[in-house]
Parts: sequence; structure tokens; C-alpha cells
Amino acid sequence: MLNATLSYELLGPVILVAAGSAFLLLFLHDRKQLPALRLSGAYFLSLAGYLAVMQVDGEPQPATLAVILASLFCGHFLLVWGVSSLFGRDFPRWRFGFAVLLAGILILYASVSGPLFWLRFAAVSGFTVVVNLICCALVWKARSHRVDMIVASVFLIQAVLTVNRIVQVQLSEIDLTAHSVFKNSHFAPSMQTENAIFAIVIGLALFARNSVTLVMKLKHLAETDPLTGLLNRRAFEARAQALRSAAAPLPTGLIFCDIDHFKRVNDSHGHEMGDRALIAFARQLERETPDTAICARLGGEEFCVLVAGVNDETIRLQATHLRSAVEWLQIPTSTGRLGLTASFGYCRLDPGDDLQAAMASVDAAVYKAKSDGRNQVREAAPSAGNSGLVHIV
Ligand code: GH3
Ligand code: MG
Ligand code: MG
Repeated sequence: MLNATLSYELLGPVILVAAGSAFLLLFLHDRKQLPALRLSGAYFLSLAGYLAVMQVDGEPQPATLAVILASLFCGHFLLVWGVSSLFGRDFPRWRFGFAVLLAGILILYASVSGPLFWLRFAAVSGFTVVVNLICCALVWKARSHRVDMIVASVFLIQAVLTVNRIVQVQLSEIDLTAHSVFKNSHFAPSMQTENAIFAIVIGLALFARNSVTLVMKLKHLAETDPLTGLLNRRAFEARAQALRSAAAPLPTGLIFCDIDHFKRVNDSHGHEMGDRALIAFARQLERETPDTAICARLGGEEFCVLVAGVNDETIRLQATHLRSAVEWLQIPTSTGRLGLTASFGYCRLDPGDDLQAAMASVDAAVYKAKSDGRNQVREAAPSAGNSGLVHIV
């Protein structure tokens, strides 16, 4: 019996320590994961409050009550901060501040106007309901993955169950003027069990969300060119196949370009200026192509674009438009404005055409544009067996 009581009472603290430690380890592994640190703090503060409540026998001393309330408000502050930062949202300071103020006034009133445990219980539980609803709304608004729906639902379920408990306690026959009566009632163990279950479910759900965020960041890093933010070659090839399937049976247009004499930009203005020119070039490509187009940096000063649902004439116009758009680009430098030109190659890609062969053909068309004097547009014909046959535009 003693063992059973001991292990039952230890269930809550053990869960809080486990969840707090898991988030802390996550943060220690990667110091940039500040949401994990905040959530860890939330769990450890809940632990402090839990242990303080366990010590109370009769009415809590003012110092104990202060510890309980500080851990309640600070712990929930860290929970909301952790959740909002994990989901990339601003901290809802007005809603949270209002909830703290209201709960604080009610708790103070219940403490000074005699042992009004029921009111203090309603204020504390009501505060946790508001925090759960705030978290639910934050997650719901920021949802971008299925796991987010689960996280939002867990917060909502906990809020509903807590409201139910407040109502049950208020409707019960037991005399709820003092804490000791509540502690010995059947409400206390059921509340402890419920809180322990939710501590672990919320912890797991947030941990899963953290992992999803991490995987998405890694995926983004693996797919993106760090200088220009455009897709890299590997990601371009994968997305190109998806766009071609979506556009089928219509063809897509593949355009390659290579900045002319870019080495001279580095030599005359420095590598840093060269980097800025590459970024400006990338932005110009994005601005001057349709929203559905895929723009990528293939490497160095070589870029490509895939546009969907085009015919031979629109792809030619898109390529010639881009050539002119590059000429309009004026990049400010310390010694005046820097202008660029680029050489272009393009082809029409029918749904059955081989992408790699088409890329090789368009690359050959770019070299033809270079050898024809640069700042030119040349068509490659993948239908000619993707052999690199080039037409002069
Ligand atoms: P062409 O007209 O024949 O294409 O001449 P080019 O000078 O553009 O071509 P080349 O291949 O000779 O030189 C490419 C230059 O691009 C050399 C390299 O230093 C520069 N470059 C490649 N990647 C970067 C980068 O990330 N930043 C900067 N600043 N320069 C880069
Ligand atoms: Mg090049
Ligand atoms: Mg070049």
C-alpha cells in the first residue's frame, strides 16, 4: 500500500522531470532551439509548483502560496512562449497578461477573504483553461502539418476537461472552503492523474512538432542555395518532375542562363560585390517569371527556370524577356552602377522528354549563345533526340 501510494504520488513529478529533461537535452544538443529551452523551463516550474502543492496540509502558508502561484504563472508563461516560438508566432502578451491579472485578483481575493478554496481552485483552473485555449489558437493559426492538428486538439481537450472539472467541483456536495478537504476528496487523485497524462501527451506532441520543424529546416537547407535562396540543382530536378506532371499534357519550357564575363565582376569589384550581383540576378529571375515557375541556381553564375503550360512561342518570349530583364538590372556599387548581361538557352519539354538530356541540350544552346557573342538567346531542340541541335532565334 505504501509503495502504491508512493509510486502514484511520484507519477506526476517523474513525468514532469522526464519531459523537462527531454526538452533540455534537445536544447543542449542544439543551442539554437530556444523553444525547447522554454518548454523545458515550463515543465520544471510545473514540477516546483507540484512539489509545493504536495507539501501543503491545511491552508498553505503565504510563502508556499507565493511559490505555487509563481510557478503557475511563470510556468504557463514559458509554455505559451515556447509554443508561440515553436510555431513562429508572436507571444500573445495582451491575452496572457489579462488572464494573469484576472486570475491574480481572484486568487488574492479568495486568500484574504477567508478560506475560499473553491474560488481559488476556479481561478487557477480557469487560468489554465485560458492558457490551453491560447496555445490551441496559436497552433491552429500556424498549422502547416498534420501533427499540428494533434497538438491543437490536445490543448483543446485539456481545456474542455478542465472546465468540466471546475463545474464538477462547484456542483459537488463536499465543503470546499479549505484546501485540505479538496486534497482528501476523490477530485485530487483524478486531477493528478489527468494532469500527469496531459503533461506527457502535450510533451510528446510538442516534441513531435519540434522534430517536424527540425526535419523541415534540414530539408530546406538541403534543397536551397544558401547565397541566393533559390533551389539548388538536385531540388530543381525533383521539383521539375513534379511541375511537369502537374502541367501534363501541356509541355513545359526549360531555360538556362549563364552570366556573361562574371569573372570580370569579381576581378573589378571584389567577390562580395559578385555575391550581391548573384543575389540581385536571382531576384530578377524570380520577379520576371510567373509565380508557378521554378527558378534555381545550378552552380556558380548559372541559373535555370522551368515554366509550365507553354507553347513554343511563349517559351521563346519568356527567354527573350529574361534576357532584356537582366539588361535592365542596375546594381549599385561604390563606383557607380553595375550592369549585367547573360546568355540564354531554352527548349520545350514535352511530358515524355528526358529531363537530363534536355538539360544537356539547353546547356549546349547557352554555349552557342556565348560563342555567338554573348547576351543572346538560342533554342535547343530536344525533339531532335536531345542531341544539342541549336536553332538561332
Ligand atoms: P562567360 O561569359 O564565358 O560565362 O565568362 P564568365 O567569366 O562568366 O565565366 P567563367 O566560368 O570563366 O567564370 C565564372 C566566374 O564566376 C568565376 C567564379 O569566381 C565566379 N563565381 C562562381 N560562383 C561564385 C560565387 O558564389 N560568388 C562569386 N562572387 N563569384 C562566383
Ligand atoms: Mg559559367
Ligand atoms: Mg559566365
